[in-house]
Amino acid sequence: MVPGPTVNPPRVREATGELREDLARASRSLEAASPADVIRWAVDRYGGRLTMATAFGPEGCLIIHWLAAIAPGTHVFNLETGYQFPETLALRDRIAARYGIEVALERPETTVEDYERTHGGPIYRVDPDRCCGDRKLAVVTRVLTGFDAWMSGIRRDQSPDRAAAPIVGWDHKFGVVKVSPLANWTKAQVWDVIVREQVPYNPLHDKGYVSIGCQPCTRAVAAAEDERAGRWSGTAKTECGLHSR
Ligand code: SF4
Repeated sequence: MVPGPTVNPPRVREATGELREDLARASRSLEAASPADVIRWAVDRYGGRLTMATAFGPEGCLIIHWLAAIAPGTHVFNLETGYQFPETLALRDRIAARYGIEVALERPETTVEDYERTHGGPIYRVDPDRCCGDRKLAVVTRVLTGFDAWMSGIRRDQSPDRAAAPIVGWDHKFGVVKVSPLANWTKAQVWDVIVREQVPYNPLHDKGYVSIGCQPCTRAVAAAEDERAGRWSGTAKTECGLHSR
């Protein structure tokens, strides 16, 4: 472990039992809805209090594709840790050009240079949980204080951690409502629409990178490997912590 204060999300809002029941009912009724209809539901219900987080994965790009037609003014943000691939950052500009949606790059308080200088080198090598905590979770916590609901592109079949993700539910970690329009979709369904609608995507996907995060913690995978096998490869870590309970 890297010494120093651990980054814990500040105390978050709690949902009333009534709100949780309301969200559970909504989630059940949205199971059969299309992702675009789920997005419409979220936009109608939360309006300007809705945001979306994206790492510019195929799911996020697809949600932006629909969002551009439904509510292009919706706030969308990316966690710019300072460690992302140039291809990922270039995709942000391609999306802006195609849809007019300027994804906000939300950065940690310290630059990579200052962060590594303070800690005597890259923290991702010795304590990736700490690094994700500082450069991702703390940033999401800060951004979400200004919103009541956030959308993400997670799918249930991506990992055991995500297998029970509702379409809509209370996010205990951040104290907001979480909407996952693609929770019950498969990777094949996502790519089918991306190809058909010519949605911009990260060119690294054509080079064997299936799930793409920060450059030091991502590798290409072989065809037979799990789609998230290239994330924090060689360690027990499987999630950055944003989507785990
Ligand atoms: S994915 Fe790697 S580099 Fe990015 S924040 Fe997490 S540990 Fe740090």
